[in-house]
Formats: sequence, structure tokens, C-alpha cells
Amino acid sequence: MNHILILPKPKKLELRKGKVDLSQGVSVRLKDERGPRRPMMLLTRGLREMGLRVTVEEGFPITLSVEKEVNNRYGEEGYILDIAKEEARIIGGSEIGVLHGVRTFTLLVRTHGVEMPCMRIEDFPDLSLRGVHIDLKCQMRRSKYLLELLSLLSEYKANAVLLEYEDKFPYRRHSIISAPDALTREEVRLFLEEADAHYIEVIPLLQSLGHVEYILRHEVYAKLREAGSIYQFCPSNKDSIKLFSELAEEIFELHENIKYFHVGGDETHLLGACDICAERVCRIGKGGLYAEHMMNIRDVIKNMGARPMIWGDMLITHPDALRKLSKDFIIVDWDYWSTGELVDRVLIYTVGAFDSSH
Ligand SMILES: [Zn+2]
Repeated sequence: MNHILILPKPKKLELRKGKVDLSQGVSVRLKDERGPRRPMMLLTRGLREMGLRVTVEEGFPITLSVEKEVNNRYGEEGYILDIAKEEARIIGGSEIGVLHGVRTFTLLVRTHGVEMPCMRIEDFPDLSLRGVHIDLKCQMRRSKYLLELLSLLSEYKANAVLLEYEDKFPYRRHSIISAPDALTREEVRLFLEEADAHYIEVIPLLQSLGHVEYILRHEVYAKLREAGSIYQFCPSNKDSIKLFSELAEEIFELHENIKYFHVGGDETHLLGACDICAERVCRIGKGGLYAEHMMNIRDVIKNMGARPMIWGDMLITHPDALRKLSKDFIIVDWDYWSTGELVDRVLIYTVGAFDSSH
């Protein structure tokens, strides 16, 4: 074995002489009794799922601990994974750091099998929030697949998912919006529990202006259409804020403890299309119309106790809106084309001193 497959690539990886053989089973233990129990349970579960025998007393020993020294050097999320002939040690800066070490270990077993070269890995993440967008409007996945996806994402050190339900949320008050294959309340609860078990923050996404065909196609909401289009709410009709608030409330009820809430806001190309909006655009511009609507949406989310996130594209198109948005918005940049180079346009957000995520 000449190369080791770990994603994301660890900061330091040093291969050493010799190999360990896990085929006879492993013994997972804590160095200190008060040590990190949840990562230990996840390691035991992960290795058992891959067919390994895991006990407390017998087999190749894997010891888990939290140590201040690692925290001082690499922070809470830092870890050292040391695989030597006699023992493997996973040392984290905190319980989360140990979890990352556990994930690297199970990833190594998954990709390289039970015979593993001795090595030492030292690692910590560059970003504090590392998420993946799960968009249920494009393709509906089975609940079981969504649960397995959480485990896989955790292995890649993701600690957040942006969950865009669209019409797959089990709305009660506005049940007409929910598709026949929407998740059930029980499936949503299971997903949230599994995410929590993997230390993954679930950030719901509810569109607040454009991309709302799944709502406005129903005649009952026809009055909220922008210039008759089912694509976008009319931002001059305050009933759209009321509807957004009622839908968000249902999501908050089921999720509990939401830290971040994404309000969408991308590709709202119909700004100023109806007569009332056109008149307002003459006075405050498209950026002003957009920002005023988003500040109302922001108030709804803040009152429910979460911090709002918003897509960045309309703020690039109308930079004057940046000055009118409060700084508690987290701007999320989306991009299908770049391949890792520094993206200059993200600097536009930093001029407004916003937190942004790319
Ligand atoms: Zn309008």
C-alpha cells in the first residue's frame, strides 16, 4: 500500500514501518473512565457494521482519550491518530476531536481493509462549519438512504447539512403543499436524531421569495404571485411574510433547537415585475425592494430564535442591498463552476463585514 485514502486530506500523515492486523478483532477502551463515551460507541458501532469483532478486553487495542496538549496545539476539533504495532491511540482536543479521529479510523478500515500500515496522523479542520446541501426538490430519497448519508458525511468530517425540504416536509396547517412522497413526521424525527448522534447540525432551508412554484401553483395562494407568476412571491404583499412565518413555525416545531435557518433568496429575477413593486423600485431600487423583504423575513426567523442564512447571488447583482441588511445574516455563496481557486466575488460580502460561507 503506497498511498492512504482519506478525505479531506489530513494536515500531517506519516507512514511507519510494520502493519497491524484487525482480523482477529479489536478492543475499544477509554484511557480515562470519564473519557469520550459517544465517540467510543460510534467507533464500536462503525467497526461492527463493517464485520469486525469488537470487545472491551480482547483483540487489537484502540484507546480513546481527550488531552489538553492536543487542544492547545490543534484546537477542540484537532486529533492525533497513532497506529503502532501494539496499540492504536485516538487523542482529541475534545470529544469532537476524538470523533474526527474515530471517523478517520473507520474510513481507513473501509478503504484499506483489516490489514493496516502503522502510521501517525495529525489533523484539524480549516473551517468551523462544513456542510452539504441536501435538496429534496430534485430527487426524493428514501428515508433509509438519508440516514445512511448522514453516517457517510460524518466520515468525511461534515458537521452540518443544509436540508431543503421544498414540498417534502409534512406540513399540517398547509398540508396542500406537501407532496405525496413527503417525509412523515416520524421520518423527520429519525433523521434529526441520527444527525444528532453524528454531531451534525441540521439547517433547514425554506425559500422566502423565489423558487416557490411548489407553493404558488396551488390556486389557494394565487394572490401571493408576483405579476401572476408562480415562481416568486410579491414582496409588496405582506401576506407572503405571514405564509412564510406559518411554514417556518411548523419546521421549528418539529426540529427544536434550530441554530441557523436558511431563507433562500436566490435568483429572484422578477423583482419589480408587478405595478406596485415597479413603483417601489423607482423609489428604492431593486436592491432596496429585496433588502426590505429580507429584513421582514429576518425578523420572523430571529423571533423564532435562529440566525438567518441567505444565498449571495442577489447581493452580488444588487450590492446596495448589502448596506440595508442587518449583519446577523450569514451570506452563503453558491457556485457550480469554480474548481478550488480563490473566488474574488466572495470579497464583496466581506466589505459589508458579513460572515460568509463558500
Ligand atoms: Zn409585486
